[in-house]
Amino acid sequence: NGLERYDSPAQALQHARRIRILTHIRPDGDAIGSMLGLGLSLQAAGKQVQMILPDGVPAPLRFLPGSSQIVRSAAEEADLLVVLDSSDLPRTGGLPENAQVDVNIDHHITNTRFARLNWVEPDAVATAAILAEQLPAWGFPLEKDAASALLAGIITDTIGFRTSNTTSKALRLAADLMDRGADLPELYRAALLLKSFEAVRFWGFGLERLQRKNGLFWTVLYQQDREATGYNGNDDADLINFLSSTECDIVVLFNEQKEGKVKVSWRSRPGIDVSALAVQFGGGGHPAAAGAEIPGTVEEVRQQVLAATEQLLRDAREMSKSNGQ
Ligand code: 5GP
Ligand code: MN
Ligand code: MN
Repeated sequence: NGLERYDSPAQALQHARRIRILTHIRPDGDAIGSMLGLGLSLQAAGKQVQMILPDGVPAPLRFLPGSSQIVRSAAEEADLLVVLDSSDLPRTGGLPENAQVDVNIDHHITNTRFARLNWVEPDAVATAAILAEQLPAWGFPLEKDAASALLAGIITDTIGFRTSNTTSKALRLAADLMDRGADLPELYRAALLLKSFEAVRFWGFGLERLQRKNGLFWTVLYQQDREATGYNGNDDADLINFLSSTECDIVVLFNEQKEGKVKVSWRSRPGIDVSALAVQFGGGGHPAAAGAEIPGTVEEVRQQVLAATEQLLRDAREMSKSNGQ
């Protein structure tokens, strides 16, 4: 398609005419926010944009302008394939293993650099934060709707600017998005805080089952909890974000999926890195927030994961003792 000669995402995006954007399965606010932020900005620059998401947009994020343009499968050809907020290729869901990705824009320390052009910033709080900084620098417009989507991505990935990786730069980028028309309190309410009746009752099952062993907390969400409460998503309704503010060293959530798999989420207090553990289980993430999708029953996965997580905690305690902390 002639775009191989460009050696930066900026040039590739500037010269492409039809751009396809993908993100990760079980999309979160950063996945949707960065997809819409980039997609609407490229449209405003006159590009033909396809935003593809096999899982569709989770109900709580459908208020974002432009989200109805996100479709489940591609209908047209594209010149350029861009993947956002995904640390590896399988995470996109549905792309063949040998798929040629042109541009990979992400902030996961575990990113495998699977594309021809990789723009990975592990210090960025969200993929949306990278786009908030780079889109204007690359010469693309950033108007109210795109800015709102990007701010939603930043707010959700930082749980409202309170994860340990939050920087003053993230706040400056958020302020810039507000200057472009994004409504912070409204995005905070709609993208982060507002929960449906079904979601809160679904949480109830997970909260009821919370267990602990020393500093390790864990709980389970089963498929039957979805049926019992009418909660439709295959995600955890953000329960793990709430559990991340409990008094523990590490909290693990086991979220039973269809097809004999379990989605595991880890959250850790500052100083404990769970990203490498997630990679060991075929997943990825950040030092303080990581996940993996593991085949097996909840009971099998729980035993393996808790054993490995307890070992990580023992190693972390040894390490801090020998550092005299
Ligand atoms: P969560 O547990 O909220 O789904 O995800 C926490 C972090 O880990 C996110 O940054 C997410 O992108 C990453 N993550 C979660 N699940 C997976 C997975 O199955 N594979 C990879 N590579 N990363 C994951
Ligand atoms: Mn994400
Ligand atoms: Mn992200």
